[in-house]
Amino acid sequence: MQVDRSTVWLYDEHGEPGPFVYQRYAHPTAAEAERRLGALDGGEALVFGSGTSAATAVVFSFCRPGATVALAEGAYFGTGVTLRRFEPWGLRVVEYDQTKPPPPEADVVWVEAPANPLLSLPDWQAVRGHGGLVVCDATISTPVYLRALDEGADVVLYSGTKYLTGHGDALIGATVTRDPERTRALWEARLQVGLSAAPDAAASLVKGLETLAVRMPRHTETARELARRLEAHPAVLRVRYPGYSGVVCFDVAADDVRAVETGTSLIRNQTSLGGVTSSLESRWRWEGDRIPRGLVRLSVGLEDVEALWADLEEALARSS
Ligand code: PLP
Repeated sequence: MQVDRSTVWLYDEHGEPGPFVYQRYAHPTAAEAERRLGALDGGEALVFGSGTSAATAVVFSFCRPGATVALAEGAYFGTGVTLRRFEPWGLRVVEYDQTKPPPPEADVVWVEAPANPLLSLPDWQAVRGHGGLVVCDATISTPVYLRALDEGADVVLYSGTKYLTGHGDALIGATVTRDPERTRALWEARLQVGLSAAPDAAASLVKGLETLAVRMPRHTETARELARRLEAHPAVLRVRYPGYSGVVCFDVAADDVRAVETGTSLIRNQTSLGGVTSSLESRWRWEGDRIPRGLVRLSVGLEDVEALWADLEEALARSS
């Protein structure tokens, strides 16, 4: 698609602003990405500079000083870090097991479906019955596997850096809501705090969404097969896999994790997930003891399943 990188647009012949004025407010490429993502989720989407910017906009829009956010344990490490940045302004952050009912005192229930990297899923019935604002990070599910607004979320959040763009070449985030007032609040936060997405990243999102429905089942098919084979491998102590999408986490002995993560050649030893090329890494490196020392997070790409398995087997053979 044609990317309009303008930061400003002309007023009309009467001197009035048109739909696009200044890039931080809105721009045509973001508007197109938002139209497409909103249609997939059945709501109104907004794109942000990153998933983290989207989370920041949620806090500025819906959390007042003194508010309690109940965050799913084992959710993306950085989300807790971002939320705790607001503690000096009076935000209270508590973590809870999202397979159980959220703490009754929470003003905001922040679930992740599935949590990255522990891959637990929220108890939707308990979340729906809670009464607080429900935020669901659906980065790993994507709208192909989860329409979180239909499950009871008030705000869906994505790191579009992952599956939605899919090629590891764009940092972008998004929210989707069904309530125009909430969309307006998020839009104002984006504008006033400076959280907008760049046009090139928005263009990557448009392109990524064009192939999302084809990529996701292939990620699932390959990940499911690798999870099955990993389960049976003697060097693997535990496999976590939610049954869909492309993230499989497996535990090896703590002393072996470095040998395994550096032992692949097709699968890249790097962070992030959701790309067409497979990658893996130890999460303990980043998250410390909240994560098992031997946990390896594998993001299964679109390569041939046999080639991926051969690569994994070779790396696992290096474990003692
Ligand atoms: N949510 C999840 C589940 C993630 O995995 C990540 C990044 O790893 C984020 C949010 C943050 O997104 P970004 O890196 O685009 O800011």
